[in-house]
Amino acid sequence: MRLTRILAILLVVATIVLSACSSTASPATSQAPTQDEPTSETTQTPSTTQTTPTTTEPAEAESTTDTTPATTTQELKVYYIDVGQGDSILVDYGQTEMLIDGGDRSPGVLSYIDTYVDGALEVMVATHPHADHIGGLIAVLQQFEVKEIWHNGDSSPSNTYAEFMSAVQTEGAVVNVGKRGDRIVVGDLSFTVLSPASLSGSTNNNSLVLAFSFGDIDFLFTGDAERQAEAAMLISSVAPVPDVEILKVGHHGSNTASSEDFIGATKPEVAIYMAGAGNSYGHPHQETLTTLDSIGAEIYGTDVHGTVVVTTDGETYDLQLERQASPVKPDIATPPPTTTIPLPAASTATNVKITKILYDGLVYRTESDEYVEITNLGSEPVDLKGWVIKDISEGYPSLTFPSYVLQPSKTVRVYTNEIHPEYGGFSFRSGRAVWNNSSPDTAVLYNAQGQEVSRKSY
Ligand SMILES: [Zn+2]
Repeated sequence: MRLTRILAILLVVATIVLSACSSTASPATSQAPTQDEPTSETTQTPSTTQTTPTTTEPAEAESTTDTTPATTTQELKVYYIDVGQGDSILVDYGQTEMLIDGGDRSPGVLSYIDTYVDGALEVMVATHPHADHIGGLIAVLQQFEVKEIWHNGDSSPSNTYAEFMSAVQTEGAVVNVGKRGDRIVVGDLSFTVLSPASLSGSTNNNSLVLAFSFGDIDFLFTGDAERQAEAAMLISSVAPVPDVEILKVGHHGSNTASSEDFIGATKPEVAIYMAGAGNSYGHPHQETLTTLDSIGAEIYGTDVHGTVVVTTDGETYDLQLERQASPVKPDIATPPPTTTIPLPAASTATNVKITKILYDGLVYRTESDEYVEITNLGSEPVDLKGWVIKDISEGYPSLTFPSYVLQPSKTVRVYTNEIHPEYGGFSFRSGRAVWNNSSPDTAVLYNAQGQEVSRKSY
């Protein structure tokens, strides 16, 4: 089964190469229309793909939907571009292109999309103002004529956001703020905004979420929308959550997104998450992979498969993978790391405890706002000299305290990256996120004798 699947994918790639070499203008590959299959729900997944020469038979449009071109005379391609830890998706339909996010500034998507964008870029969508989504859009605005820009109306104090908005203003494009129920019409294509209905205080949950149908093939693009946004979408009657063939998994496969209810409602045949290999957040999280796997989705990730391209004629679809590998499966073999570490002996127990770990995920990469708190719950001052606080899930970072007397009922913070003297002025100086990237993510406090005195998991 696994071997057939890989062979099928290799066949697709071989056909693409051959077709590209023949320099015809026709799309690279197509699945043979399967006449005896009644509905789109039986669309072939890549495992059953048969590569055949492109047929000229156009897909019939459904009369019940106005989101589909009258006749799909050409194939549509959706590129889930490998931009490391970030999102960038290009929808390409003939002369019409739409770019959803642009990854971070580096590596950017300029050179990649240059191959596919004919003339102007019709529509640019910035799902939300985090740097791993809008950073790469700045160069695109500088290099391409962009006719229309959609964003969610949210702002950010970051330099990246300021430069992005400055580039948007310089561009002179039509600028729209998307809200639930809006339609983004691009040539013959129409995208429905499912979220947000209104902005909340959560940058990720404010992400623009777009549903799109091409014939019988339905796509959902979720940005970094998390469970809060998913729950709101599920109870909305304005723009109902569709079941889809292809899902861009929310928030890089984090367990803060992809609730069982949301995945159960969208029922994707193919789920594509976008994450950087070895990213510090631990994306994709096992919980998400398990949820997707449990409904039978085939899971692909840009960290494993590189850029993933979905090609559809409106009736069937196939996938091309930049790097050949089996679909991603949840890892059920790894025991939780906590079982291997002995609990502290009673004699080492003190009244100094790890009382809080804060991770809000709002500051990309460095997480200057995340921290771990240590509190003296006893009645005697304790000198922390030689004590160590460590992330044992990854084995680093760790901080050895200098002489620092923690008074009774007082708390000291150890920040991930910055120093805030008002809270004791300690920092791992990590340069990257520490918490919420393992499951569980566990901090341990050791005394000067190296004995564990407290632990807390995020
Ligand atoms: Zn993101």
